Order: sequence, then structure tokens, then C-alpha cells
Amino acid sequence: MRYLSEKAKKISPYTAGEQPKDKKYVKLNTNENPYPPSPKVRAAVEKFDPASLKLYPDPTAKALREAIGQAEGVPAENVFCGNGSDEILALCFPAFFDPDGDGAAFADITYSFYPVFCDFFGIPKRILPLDEDFTLDLEKLLALPAQGFVVANPNAPTGIGIPLGEVEGFVKKSGRLVILDEAYMPFFGESAVPLTKKYDNVLVVKTFSKGYSLAGIRCGYAIGDRSLIEGLERVRDCFNSYPVDSLCQAACAAAILDAEYYSRMNGLVIFEREQLRGALEKMGFFVLPSRSNFLFAKSNSLSGGKVYAGLKERGVLVRWFDKPKISDFVRITVGSAEENEKLLEALKDLLGR
Ligand SMILES: *Cc1c(COP(=O)(O)O)cnc(C)c1O
Repeated sequence: MRYLSEKAKKISPYTAGEQPKDKKYVKLNTNENPYPPSPKVRAAVEKFDPASLKLYPDPTAKALREAIGQAEGVPAENVFCGNGSDEILALCFPAFFDPDGDGAAFADITYSFYPVFCDFFGIPKRILPLDEDFTLDLEKLLALPAQGFVVANPNAPTGIGIPLGEVEGFVKKSGRLVILDEAYMPFFGESAVPLTKKYDNVLVVKTFSKGYSLAGIRCGYAIGDRSLIEGLERVRDCFNSYPVDSLCQAACAAAILDAEYYSRMNGLVIFEREQLRGALEKMGFFVLPSRSNFLFAKSNSLSGGKVYAGLKERGVLVRWFDKPKISDFVRITVGSAEENEKLLEALKDLLGR
């Protein structure tokens, strides 16, 4: 610790889901898609010439932004690309919040990277407890003194979605920046991207990791008014002018233009999610209504920690957050039919004892 800055000594970093290598697990802990990426991604990667890697990528990722713009129905100049949406969210905090400002407002139970970013960049946090049923009361959020808001829709780890009409009412009334983290929107389908054309105070952040089966490639994007995109560009260029490599640009452009494939595959995920929810409820779990590719579930007999550990022992990984209000729950990624079956068998064995 001797050579570390005071900030590096004190910070508590985000903890990503574990990736243990001691044996082969049924991996339902990091919300990856169980299905492969579009065949068009494979074709784009095979066509890609490694010799071109000697050059830096296009720093503006123009071809990829054009593909995203086409798929999302917005001009390319309203699109910003980053090395995963986590990176874009990180850039948002210094781009849109001041250390001596009113702070960033978000829920107590939401993506746990937001408080980490606030602490790292020295931005005050305004934290709103979710209601008893784990829904977010937007009126209460609005009442907080804050420079802007960060809302995950659907929320993680609860999976609960906010209808677009309610999001629009909130954006309209807030008069401040609203950052919508739509990592799980491919499983919900009420994206606020259309609002970015009507309101200059809404920034939508999306990712290729979950809905496009490309978690391994690290790419995300943001859509918003040109002034917001410019803010992100300014901050990006203080860290890394080339966050999106050229192979990634080619693969993701191919992915986003294959809407037909992904709506079919994500439809399957949604179908499997509802099957799994039914099966868990039959086994005595309380399951929150999910609009994402995971379920947040609470056993009527075992604590969240026991469910997590018992499943791990049986070769199935799920995510458990040892935090107030949610320590009785586990977050289960919806896998393939076969993976979900293995989870249910492991649970039967665990609960049968
Ligand atoms: C997975 C996730 C992200 C991060 O996605 P990457 O693009 O892989 O960095 C962002 N927000 C939420 C809520 C997520 O669950």
C-alpha cells in the first residue's frame, strides 16, 4: 500500500460476479446470454483482416455508430461508443456531475457500480430506498436535491421494468439530466431512445453484452442530444481516445443490424424465463416480476447465502448480494432450457434435505 495514492487506498471497487476455474459450473451468475451471437457476427469476424490491426482503430467508430444509428433510428452523431457500457457509465459521472454540486440520485437497490463511480470521482450520492415491493417511486426520486439521476431500466438486480410512459413523465418533469441504463432493454422493449429526440436531458446507455450475446467483446453505446454526446467525447479523450478496437467495431456493427435474429433469440430467453419462474414458484420461491434475463428470487425456507452456497456445491453458480434488504434473495440468470433444468435439479436436491 506504501506507494498508493490516498484515493486508491480508500476506494472500495465494484465486485464482479465470480468466474471460478476449479470445475465446470452451470454459470447463471453474470447475466450472460445463453445463446451464441448472430451468424453475421461470425461472418464479420472471419472477414476481418488481422493485418489491419497494425493501425489504430477509427477513434470515432463511425461505421459502428452509423450501424447503431440505423438500428435505433437516430443520427450517428447522437451515438457514443465505449469499451462496455460500464466504461460509458464511468465517463458519465465526471462529464455530468460536479464534486461540489447536488450529486447523483439513484436507488439503494440498483447497479452497484453507481456508488463506486460517485466515490471515485468525489460526487455526492443521493440515495432513495426502493418501496417495499422493490419498485422505484419516481416522484420521490424527483424530490431529491440532485444534479441528475441514474436509473437502470429494467433495474438490476430486481429485474423490475418501468413503462416508457412513466419514464417520459419523469424526464419531462425533472428538468435535470436523466441517465437511463438500459442494459436489459432487449428483454423488455420499452426503450427511451425515442425520447432522446424530444428531450435534451435524457441519455440512454446500452450494451452488446446481454441482449447481443457479446459480453466477451466489451462494447456499449449511449444515445442522446448532441451536447451530451460531446460531453462524453471530451471526457473520453482525457482517458483513452481509442476505447473501441477495430475488430470489435466490425463485430458489433454486424450484430446490431441483425435485429431479426436477436428478437428471436431474446424471445426464447423470455419464454425460458417464464418457465423457470413458474418452476421456482412451485418450489416455494417468491420471485419478483422480471422484464430482464434474470430472476430475483427468495426461498421460503433457506437464506440467500445458503441457497447460493448449496447451489455452488452442486455445480451451479448464481449471484448473491450480502446486503441489507436483499440478502434473502439470489439473482439467477436465465440459461438455456438444459441449464435451467440443471439448476432446478440442484435446487430440488438442496431443498429436499
Ligand atoms: C451488465 C450491466 C452493465 C454493464 O455492461 P457492460 O457493457 O458489459 O459493461 C451495465 N449496467 C447494468 C445494470 C448491467 O447489469
